[in-house]
Amino acid sequence: MFVDLVTIFIKAGRGGDGRVSFHREKYIAAGGPDGGDGGRGGNVVFVVDDHMATLLDFRMKRKYEAANGEMGGTKRCTGKDGQDIVIRVPRGTLIRDAESGALMHDMSDDRPYVAARGGRGGWGNARFATPTRQAPRFAKPGQDGDARKVVLELKLIADVGLIGFPNVGKSTLLSVISRARPKIANYHFTTLTPNLGVVYVDEGASFVAADIPGIIEGAAEGAGLGHDFLRHIDRCRLLVHVVDVSGSEMRDPVADLDAINEELRGYSETLAGRPQIVAANKSDILPPGSDNLERLRARCSELGFPLYEISAATQQGVDVLVRAVWRALSALPPVTVYEDEMSVDEPPALTERDIQIEVRDGVYCVSGAWPEKVIQSVNFDDYESRMYFERVLRRAGVFDMLEKAGVQEGDTVDVCGCQFEYVY
Ligand code: GDP
Ligand code: MG
Repeated sequence: MFVDLVTIFIKAGRGGDGRVSFHREKYIAAGGPDGGDGGRGGNVVFVVDDHMATLLDFRMKRKYEAANGEMGGTKRCTGKDGQDIVIRVPRGTLIRDAESGALMHDMSDDRPYVAARGGRGGWGNARFATPTRQAPRFAKPGQDGDARKVVLELKLIADVGLIGFPNVGKSTLLSVISRARPKIANYHFTTLTPNLGVVYVDEGASFVAADIPGIIEGAAEGAGLGHDFLRHIDRCRLLVHVVDVSGSEMRDPVADLDAINEELRGYSETLAGRPQIVAANKSDILPPGSDNLERLRARCSELGFPLYEISAATQQGVDVLVRAVWRALSALPPVTVYEDEMSVDEPPALTERDIQIEVRDGVYCVSGAWPEKVIQSVNFDDYESRMYFERVLRRAGVFDMLEKAGVQEGDTVDVCGCQFEYVY
């Protein structure tokens, strides 16, 4: 069975915790804080692998987790970053956010795509030394990495779609022009999955062809399996219409050509409007005296379709066809790449209501997802940044909440692991 839609869980690594440590050396009594930062958590990265043609591998393995960052070391050593996890997908795989269905990325080009970012490492206590606070006994914990469910959806990015009735020789043709080895059998509906093949024309000249089975009469109205498969050729720039010119299946090549095109129009006008090249196949077993080829040629010139006489079995005429396809493709615009609808770099919507305050051993502890996020963006070495932090907390009502909880000037306030002296 061909799998073209699969949901997987991806999780980036957590950042390593910052370290609390103090410089120790013989004969030096009170060294300064030297706890290093935690390492960054590993990212979840998608890359295109042209050797893959299906999403079958994802059936077996559904969970993908990158490594966590390591804890900061002493002597200001930063912890090791967590290793990225690299997920290989076929070219053309769409990555969607499972919850919203939004398109995150279209894996059509060769750029690696980071779908989940590792958490930042927490700062070690060396970062928190200020002229007035020379021995900070705290460090920040690492940040959680992104975690989400994503749906992988594969639409073949074939430049060329091979269409035609069952048994006309589509699979055979694909197998001789490409490295793909689709199943070939002499009965109808054997090929129930689209097969992709990379066709090398010359050095630097190649294209992707898909053998699209299942185009049968009535397919556009939902009969048979045609519809699902037709979805895969949406992006083809060119169609190679394979016709059995020998009439070996007791059908008429001209009637076949017209029937498939009728079918295509029923499915999609856009698709039916794509340029077509007709491959008059099985010419090696054309019965003597048959006028099939001449009649097909006449019909094709009426329709404006170039016709190439070939035999996929003996490979006669196949090279000429491939070169003609390549020439036609070179003149056509490239495949559409969908724009990303959702950026993962965007911070999640924060709600200021998500704040908890509790008093533990005289320390006023502020926690919650919102202050957690805010504190990640503050650089405590920087005055401006600290002022910003204070403003944001004040605006969110944190100060009011603290007052209500009974905080007094000089008390210790702990915001997600970072401690401050309360000064109103
Ligand atoms: P598909 O259903 O269109 O994919 O057709 P297949 O490629 O599976 O071919 C159907 C049958 O036709 C197989 O038995 C092939 O060996 C045979 N066939 C394909 N191309 C040719 C050809 O050019 N000449 C001859 N004689 N037989 C062919
Ligand atoms: Mg086939």
